[in-house]
Amino acid sequence: MLANNTLCLEVGEPQDKGSAENCPLSGTVVELQSAQIRATGVEKLQCPACGAARKATIRGELVIYPPHTALRIARANKGPLWIRQGTTWTKR
Ligand SMILES: [Zn+2]
Repeated sequence: MLANNTLCLEVGEPQDKGSAENCPLSGTVVELQSAQIRATGVEKLQCPACGAARKATIRGELVIYPPHTALRIARANKGPLWIRQGTTWTKR
């Protein structure tokens, strides 16, 4: 049985099409503990480099900023999220 789903998936293989630049912080470990995310229930991180808000990838104790392309237009991020100030992350 095949459903004709036209879901737009953002996850998966990195697609290198040459047009969009990957943010330098793509796939890097951030200085935040997974326990902090679990304790607060806030999973979104604001990228310190480009300002994109993405859901953190949690791998055991590590918190990883998922691969993303650099945001060109600054957007107002709604809702609670983590913002890095210096080397510490604070929750908004
Ligand atoms: Zn970024």
